[in-house]
Amino acid sequence: MFIHSQDILLTPIEYLKGVGPYKAELLRKEVAISTFGDMLQFYPFRYVDRSTVMQIGQIQEDGVMVQLVGRITFAEVLGVGRGKRLVGNLKDSTGMIELVWFQGISFIEKVIEGGGNFLVYGKAVRFNGYLTITHPEIEKLDTVSPDELPAFMPVYSSTEKLRSKWLSGRNFVKLIQQLFLQIKEKDIRENLPPSVIQQHRLLSRYQAVKNIHFPEDNLLLQASMHRLKFEELFVHQIGICKLKLNRQFIHGYQFLKVGDAFNTFYKQHLPFELTNDQKEVLREIRLDTQTGKQMNRLLQGDVGSGKTIVALLCMLLAIDNDFQACLMAPTEILAQQHFIGIKDLLIEMDIEVGFLTGKVKAKERRSLLEKLECGEMKILIGTHALIEDNVIFKNLGLCIIDEQHRFGVAQRAKLWKKNELPPHILVMTATPIPRTLAMTSYGDLDVSVIKNLPPGRKPISTVHRPEIHRAKVMEFIKHEIDQGRQAYIVYPLIEESEKLDYENLYAGYEQVKQFFPEQTYHIAMVHGKQKPEERESNMKSFVQGKAHIMVATTVIEVGVNVPNASVMLIESAERFGLSQLHQLRGRVGRGADKSYCILLTTHKITAVGKLRMHTMVTETSGFAIAEKDLELRGPGEIDGTRQSGGSDLKLADIIKDVNLMELTRHVAIDLLQKDPYLESEENSSLKSFLMTRKDKEVWSRIS
Ligand code: ADP
Ligand code: MG
Repeated sequence: MFIHSQDILLTPIEYLKGVGPYKAELLRKEVAISTFGDMLQFYPFRYVDRSTVMQIGQIQEDGVMVQLVGRITFAEVLGVGRGKRLVGNLKDSTGMIELVWFQGISFIEKVIEGGGNFLVYGKAVRFNGYLTITHPEIEKLDTVSPDELPAFMPVYSSTEKLRSKWLSGRNFVKLIQQLFLQIKEKDIRENLPPSVIQQHRLLSRYQAVKNIHFPEDNLLLQASMHRLKFEELFVHQIGICKLKLNRQFIHGYQFLKVGDAFNTFYKQHLPFELTNDQKEVLREIRLDTQTGKQMNRLLQGDVGSGKTIVALLCMLLAIDNDFQACLMAPTEILAQQHFIGIKDLLIEMDIEVGFLTGKVKAKERRSLLEKLECGEMKILIGTHALIEDNVIFKNLGLCIIDEQHRFGVAQRAKLWKKNELPPHILVMTATPIPRTLAMTSYGDLDVSVIKNLPPGRKPISTVHRPEIHRAKVMEFIKHEIDQGRQAYIVYPLIEESEKLDYENLYAGYEQVKQFFPEQTYHIAMVHGKQKPEERESNMKSFVQGKAHIMVATTVIEVGVNVPNASVMLIESAERFGLSQLHQLRGRVGRGADKSYCILLTTHKITAVGKLRMHTMVTETSGFAIAEKDLELRGPGEIDGTRQSGGSDLKLADIIKDVNLMELTRHVAIDLLQKDPYLESEENSSLKSFLMTRKDKEVWSRIS
């Protein structure tokens, strides 16, 4: 592979004029700039637009961000101790404003020392009749009047330490100006294929990089951003799509037969007719598993859409072809529910099903592992304990992962090593996949969707009620129960506040009992701290209709199916995530009657909290809710997005720029289909660029 060893962009930053070893070290530590190339990619975080410089006399509103140019006419340190501050007056031809700093006083003193013109940016407030800005950004200007400022001046984020040591934002500008003197246009090589540039009317890489730092005008600035975002997303998508394409070359086991296990179950024990969507998914999986390649499929279906039965049928298919199958769930309780449910479905069949979590005792574990290794045990259900190295299968052919979003990509990869060839992988999730994630975290998987729920589900009315209406809400629930219905009352439980959450749960339970006296009503409580037997027996009493109310933590988030339940009351609903709320709501609306979901919160919920409640009240589609969720949370909080390339995106935002991402994905797929190894002359620049990136190893491994 051709790597430009004389690449000037790889020059250590200390060789930039004005830097040197000491400052180079600071730059590396503080902002991860080690080379000329890193410096080029240290983009401004905002621009000073000359046209937005205000005159002090124009400031009318209180609390607005303003950009001013003026002279410092007075500066003095006042007060002592915590009250110590530097106060200065900034004056232009129209008025005066006070500037105040409580921190970094000696640094600011140095900045303003020699006098002259200054550019000031900050929030102007009226205080005792005076206009004041506290902690404004301040920079000395080289020019005399605002009219001589360039149209756009870049502003770089600097750290406190850099600033105090020497590198204010202004000095950064000088360094980058210097950088552009030391490199030539040809040094910023084009990395996108000419046809892509042409077709999408992109600026050249050089133009874009130059203009992102020193935009000639707004149009060029926008075009530069577009070009650089395009590049980031495109390169990101090339990586993901290449991975997917590469799958075509990974051998997998063939499931050619449909045999006794599948047929017997299908014909004699299937408790209901499959929906068309379920049948279609099965068909897709059958096709995948016949090809001789490894299947990597994501099965997405809203809560209650019936993924479990599809999973079971796939496992039977594996068994018919002399393979074993496993089903992995993210929590003990969920794994256990799967185990119980599947054992129940297979009760008439002679198929050994095992259950393995970290809590299984040594003796039991030993016998289970033996059966697994000799092949006697056909199906293993459990938590991530399944992927530990000492769990050895005789011949694992299929692995199903439920609720994938809590499993990392690395964990998925571990499964590949459980047999000579990698077993087929089916990932199931109830969380609808927003477009963004479908192209990032899940971008390398094939996707099947169960769109329609099994017949008989009823619409659910959702309301948001403040705490003070509790009595009314309880009256409503009582009315439903008196009609013969059942109700769920759910409390939040998270690890960080577990102790307090349990106290709230117990207190809540007592409170519910006051509304529903024990002589008349039967209340079952279910939570993760109970002994499994106790939990199961309580759960059972609700499932069998003996208990009217189930008071629970989120253990019921997944799995419980009680068609007669018509109310889902969620306590402290503001503390739940949107997808969790949606999952909980999915527990009702399964029977013949109208169902209700009531979100109870305090009065004091945040604006985002209110938006979440509003989303639940107005949206019924899991897909719309997931999109909203992503929007409200931001990509940083979503598993998998970081590792899937998010960190390489400096300008692009995987949520805001989802349309551009979609476009670049198409371009990437198109290009890889024509030239999977990027061998053509046209793609050579792209290939050399990919090879010089940090993830080049990935690229060379898969190319
Ligand atoms: P999820 O996709 O959320 O895992 P489940 O597999 O738990 O959903 O199914 C939810 C409920 O729907 C279960 O009680 C299941 O028995 C039932 N179910 C699944 N498929 C059908 C179907 N085709 N017809 C009727 N009921 C079904
Ligand atoms: Mg499920």
